[in-house]
Amino acid sequence: MPKVIEKLRGRGVEVVVESGAGLGALIPDELYTAAGARIGDPWSANVVVKVAPPTSEEIGRLSSGSTLIGFLAPLTAKETTAALKAAGVTAFAMESVPRISRAQSMDALSSQANVAGYKAVLLAASESTRFFPMLTTAAGTVKPATALVLGVGVAGLQALATAKRLGARTTGYDVRPEVADQVRSLGAQWLDLGIEAVGEGGYARELTEAERAEQQKRLEEAITGFDIVITTANVPGRTAPTLVTAKAVEGMKPGSVVVDLAGESGGNCELTEPGRTVVKHDVTIASPLNLPATMPEHASELYSRNVSALLELMLDDTGAVAPNWDDEVLAKSCVTREVAN
Ligand code: NAD
Repeated sequence: MPKVIEKLRGRGVEVVVESGAGLGALIPDELYTAAGARIGDPWSANVVVKVAPPTSEEIGRLSSGSTLIGFLAPLTAKETTAALKAAGVTAFAMESVPRISRAQSMDALSSQANVAGYKAVLLAASESTRFFPMLTTAAGTVKPATALVLGVGVAGLQALATAKRLGARTTGYDVRPEVADQVRSLGAQWLDLGIEAVGEGGYARELTEAERAEQQKRLEEAITGFDIVITTANVPGRTAPTLVTAKAVEGMKPGSVVVDLAGESGGNCELTEPGRTVVKHDVTIASPLNLPATMPEHASELYSRNVSALLELMLDDTGAVAPNWDDEVLAKSCVTREVAN
């Protein structure tokens, strides 16, 4: 984003932008040059910043000793990490930025999850055969929609807030009990199924087989009463848990909608087809991939602030890259490191 360029220029950094890089977010090259950037080949820069993990062709264009910052899927795309290491690239994964207060401005998982949670509700509303709000009209009263959010991390909280703003009656469910108060603070009900599963770093852990069977059974009963189900449940580095079984979908009212945000890691609904919208048992099941890309302006604005905050943390007074490896934010987000001889 042009504003970020001005800030980096102020720190002594020369910024090169690939021609057309901003077109998806409706930012023409001229706005970058007006902010002080040069349009050119970014791959020869000391630091390369991108969004998605690099392809092997892109890794081939990085010079040894350079730095790469972006989403690198370090827990699942091991071959990318190996290729970056072999190429002598020092790489920082945005997914690995520790979620501590000091690093909140660099938390790209959260900024993008906010976009996804918001957009998931809009998608559910447009697929729904019913209104979200209660309507009192001359033709009679329409009851508000009921929306259940399964997995209430950052995307789930945003989904609850957005569904509430549209007038739905909202309910949230998670295996981390600390989430209950956050759910209630958004005016939603807390669905308590009596299963707690907190693991490393405050994230959810995978359920045991017995817990999983119990959870699915209880959710089958609970889900029947909802018009809209939005699922966001993930366990870092694992396949997404199945929360909505085929039987649960069968039990939903015709015209109901499931939006499954976990499609990239396999999906939370047994009938999900990642990347597609399908109708099964008269229920629409949508599993959009990369929802933040459908809101390019704000998704890019937030992401560019996240990456520039991380980049600024590793700059010295002259604008050169000089990471302090004692800083836990840099040490933990670094996935490969080129050590000079
Ligand atoms: P995520 O995308 O990994 O998972 C989404 C949600 O799914 C989580 O709330 C998780 O508990 C839930 N989940 C996983 N398995 C489940 C199951 N079987 N059944 C029901 N729910 C299940 O999570 P996220 O949104 O990236 O982040 C959540 C964590 O990160 C939380 O611990 C949150 O407090 C923390 N966080 C901290 C900060 C900070 O600044 N300190 C910022 C953002 C997030």
